[in-house]
Amino acid sequence: MVLTATSSTIFPQQARIVIVGGGIAGCSTAYHLALRGERDVLLLEQGKLTCGTTWHAAGLVGQMRPNRNMTRMSKYGIELYSMLEAETGLATGWKQCGSVNVARTPERWQVLKKQAALARSFGVEVQLITPKEAGDLYPVMRTDDLQGAIWIPGDGKANPADLCMSLAKGARNRGVRMLEGVEVTGVTTEGGRVSGVQTAQGPVRCELLINCAGQWARQFGALAGVNVPLYPAEHFYIVTDKIAGVHPMLPVMRDPDGFIYYKEEVGGLLMGGFEPVAKPWRMEPIPSTFQFQLLDEDWDQFEPLMKNAIHRTPCLETAPVKMLLNGPESFTPDGNFILGEAPEVRNYFVCAGFNSAGIANSGGAGKLMADWVLRGQAPSDLWDVDIRRFAPFTGNRQALAERTGETLGLHYAMRWPRQELQTGRPLRTSPLYEQLTQKGAEFGSKNGWERANYFKTGGAERPAYGLGKPGWLPWVIEEQRATREAVALYDQTSFGKLLLQGRDALAVLQRLCAAEMDVPPGRMVYTAMLNERGGFESDLTVMRLPPERGNDRYLLVTGSAQPVRDADWINRHIGPDEFALLTDVSALWSVLSVMGPRAPELLRRVSPDDVSPAGLKFSHTQEIDLGHARVRAARMSYVGGPGYELYVPVEMARHVYGQLQAAGADLGLRDAGYYALDALRIEAGRRAWGAELGPDETPFEAGLWAGVRLDKASPFIGRDALLAAQGQPLRKKLLSFVFEDPTVYAWGGEAIVMDGQTVGELSSVGWSLKAGACAGLGYVRGDAARVVHAGSFAAIDLWGEPVRALAFDHWAG
Ligand SMILES: Cc1cc2nc3c(=O)[nH]c(=O)nc-3n(C[C@H](O)[C@H](O)[C@H](O)COP(=O)(O)OP(=O)(O)OC[C@H]3O[C@@H](n4cnc5c(N)ncnc54)[C@H](O)[C@@H]3O)c2cc1C
Repeated sequence: MVLTATSSTIFPQQARIVIVGGGIAGCSTAYHLALRGERDVLLLEQGKLTCGTTWHAAGLVGQMRPNRNMTRMSKYGIELYSMLEAETGLATGWKQCGSVNVARTPERWQVLKKQAALARSFGVEVQLITPKEAGDLYPVMRTDDLQGAIWIPGDGKANPADLCMSLAKGARNRGVRMLEGVEVTGVTTEGGRVSGVQTAQGPVRCELLINCAGQWARQFGALAGVNVPLYPAEHFYIVTDKIAGVHPMLPVMRDPDGFIYYKEEVGGLLMGGFEPVAKPWRMEPIPSTFQFQLLDEDWDQFEPLMKNAIHRTPCLETAPVKMLLNGPESFTPDGNFILGEAPEVRNYFVCAGFNSAGIANSGGAGKLMADWVLRGQAPSDLWDVDIRRFAPFTGNRQALAERTGETLGLHYAMRWPRQELQTGRPLRTSPLYEQLTQKGAEFGSKNGWERANYFKTGGAERPAYGLGKPGWLPWVIEEQRATREAVALYDQTSFGKLLLQGRDALAVLQRLCAAEMDVPPGRMVYTAMLNERGGFESDLTVMRLPPERGNDRYLLVTGSAQPVRDADWINRHIGPDEFALLTDVSALWSVLSVMGPRAPELLRRVSPDDVSPAGLKFSHTQEIDLGHARVRAARMSYVGGPGYELYVPVEMARHVYGQLQAAGADLGLRDAGYYALDALRIEAGRRAWGAELGPDETPFEAGLWAGVRLDKASPFIGRDALLAAQGQPLRKKLLSFVFEDPTVYAWGGEAIVMDGQTVGELSSVGWSLKAGACAGLGYVRGDAARVVHAGSFAAIDLWGEPVRALAFDHWAG
């Protein structure tokens, strides 16, 4: 029985873990905590269980996700949903009816084929089928305009409210307490940690809090200063009367080119979708009394979906529509949900922002959440959904509302390779932004930063997105050539920069970093921060700066997307008695990288200081005069070959840029962007965090020993795991691949096939100037990791067609 908090005698005064929100996310989290043996869990719901968004969801449950861990999560959810009724005795409405996804355009068909190959690599059964076969599976559909379809027999549907109640019962059977009618109105903290919650019925002390408050999660998070960037949008479906030929086991059907989906509902069709320009629900704050409520019908907003649906299923033209349901659902700035421990407050966890896939995802997300809470660390690489991918500025409500109008539509819109989102931009800009714009820069956005992807020449427009060889490639090739043969200038101001200072800064770094950090001031160390499993939490460059007033100082340079995550990792490992202060100084320094064989000559012309290879050795850094400015020159290169990163106070960046441009014209100096940088680093075999490196990859698997010293005197996190793994067979192994055919173009994410078996995926692909063809990096897994060696040929599944690529090992011997 779920209790309603009417009597003060039953109101608990404490619990180890409090969950706020009794929708499917909260109930699944409660279920999994209990399943793991956690008995002292209290779930508080301001209304009744399911009363927020869960009760009115459509109930489609699919498995295909863009990466391995997310797919594992959704597959687990389906297994759970298929056995839950037997466990709890409460029906869930689960039916494994399978799903059909259709393609109207050749490009969509290519994308579906790529997704199918990937899904198979992740262990999901997927079949490519003809339009005729799709029609046989889904007889009320028109198929004469289809290119093809995919059939996923393991997918299904559920009744969301019943499923949620069944999870709740499973949780209560294992001892979870659930109270309805309790609004949590505040969160108390002690020493930066959660210590309790406040409610109208009184305070509850707790050690851990999990914010599962759905569309309220942002405003509820704000009560404790926690940023949960999500925003509701109006979201629609219709339900018809009975239709001939529609039966309970009719598959789920998705027609993404029409932005629509279908599910059988009481003998009729439930049809909804994701219109390209959505309607944010600008209700601030969302009242706590919004329970079992819907929004007004809006047929104008629904019309594009209806038109496409009548085209796909002509029976809808005459079928009586029982209702147009409009319910709010929350969306996030990147379309992925939000999981994990908030960086602002210890023991404050979030599980929210499901972007209209909360029924499908909550089974698995609740399990991940329980593991995360009980271990105090993410159980695997969950970076795509990790709350620490969002910096504080992402909580801006105007930007969130605008972005929600865009991200809802992305659900089914054709996602082109390297397609950039448009709303909320430009926001974070380098001092060179206007100058680079005038010089033809085409910008992409990372963590809010505008970064030049490439430079158009001759006043050209941005080439249209496509799947084949991109229109920008000739420009990027010239930028790569300048880097390899002359000198190129990259604006890398977006780098994350963290300053760690204090008496114990070295001790902290020694514990966190796998390299020897006790180096003299002026030295730079490329290193890894590993987790206890030996996986990469980050890879970063650390500069030891001259001490100030006796305090050690280190500048940590990390990826543009990572400063919140890295700062959180470091801060949580600074002991209560240690004196070490970490400050995010990303916005104080511009970074201008000059790369290429003529870089030393260029710097000689603008600086009186000796930064020649002899004067400033590789992996060394020093302050120099440059024009009228003082900058920190760091000798290093991510792209291979000679190069310097110049750390310039932002207010001097324009001056320094002008000096370099004026001095470099006759050296062939060229502005270059991130596409060239990425292609060059792939060619040089440099791994990137988030692509080749992550919490699930060890240095053994990544072949990355620079930055790891197993023999250093002070122990570091992850060392024991590495020692245990030493000499053991690899679970996977990173290889380089070069495509044989110079006319094909790949983008990354393609399946690697050997002897007819999918053995891995390409993590990154770029154009190799040296090879005159695409080159990529990718892990091969399992047995293949042991047998595939340099010189083997692999088939890369490129849009469903096998393309030969030669494997080689940058790091062998
Ligand atoms: C039209 C529509 C169709 C959809 N179709 C699908 C589908 O087919 N498949 C799919 O996977 N997903 C679908 N979804 C999405 C799915 O419904 C949601 O992602 C999911 O229900 C979110 O669950 P939740 O637990 O995060 O949020 P909710 O169900 O909203 O639960 C949050 C709960 O927190 C409570 N709460 C908030 N603040 C407080 C507080 N301060 N104190 C106490 N309690 C509080 C609320 O009352 C609420 O009950 C659809 C959504 C819509 C709108």
